Amino acid sequence: MINYNSASALRSFLDNEGLGMQKKFGQNFLINPHVRKSLIDELGSKEGEEDWEIGPGIGAMTAMLLEQGLKVKAFEIDHGFINVLKKLFGSNGNFTLIEGDVMKTWQSQPPSQFLLGNLPYNIAAAFLADLIEKERVFSRIVVTVQKEVALRMAAAAGSQDYSSFSVLCASAYKVKPLMLIRRDSFYPKPNVDSMGVLLESKNSPKCPAGFFPLVRSLFASRRKTVKNNLKVFVSSAEICEAALRETGINENERAENLELDAFLSLAKTINNMRK
Ligand code: SAM
Repeated sequence: MINYNSASALRSFLDNEGLGMQKKFGQNFLINPHVRKSLIDELGSKEGEEDWEIGPGIGAMTAMLLEQGLKVKAFEIDHGFINVLKKLFGSNGNFTLIEGDVMKTWQSQPPSQFLLGNLPYNIAAAFLADLIEKERVFSRIVVTVQKEVALRMAAAAGSQDYSSFSVLCASAYKVKPLMLIRRDSFYPKPNVDSMGVLLESKNSPKCPAGFFPLVRSLFASRRKTVKNNLKVFVSSAEICEAALRETGINENERAENLELDAFLSLAKTINNMRK
């Protein structure tokens, strides 16, 4: 059994296996068992239910999930870690391993209700945005991400951290920051602190066609007004002005002050006008 709670024990294990940590894959093991347990508790899945685990590493959280009788579908890219995972859990009928880049592999997998991951920092936001844009909704997602990403996910309109990613997250989920996870809870120690974040499905209806590109383009130049960003997006001053009039959005407003509903009604209105 691997001691997942000690940096030196992990270092010796990796040395014995002839493995190294690869920076390009954002590899930082969560060595704080209390944090691992809290994240799994927040996920709230029950025995027999399936959880996706993104980036299991050498299985610190996987082992806990399997001990609770959960079915784990794990997505891992690192060949060395994949071999360790197969040795540790390969004979467990509740364990499935999807090898390769999760950005490429997830879409071919059938939907699941729960997703857990101490996400590699280099794909964290892109991966979550991809799930949301492709309308793959989970009941509950619990992730560890860099603090700055967590703040963007949870930001409200009008705040400094509010971005197109905040609107994307809010379109499908209630976002709840869980706990600050200090950098010394990881091996190797990263340069920044992280946060656990819970996303609970709002069971929202599908977003209107063109909603996601619209949101992104309204944030394209943060200093520009909604009108100036929108004009570029619709390539028609007429539609732009009419859509703002109809939705009651002040043309001098900036995207950072618009609530989710304003983006949704703008997308719907533009679709109707283009018909
Ligand atoms: N879950 C482990 C833990 O908490 O200790 C490891 C988390 S570590 C931050 C991120 C993990 O994601 C690593 O195992 C890394 O190899 C894996 N990973 C990085 N990029 C990936 C990708 N594109 N697809 C699948 N796994 C990836």
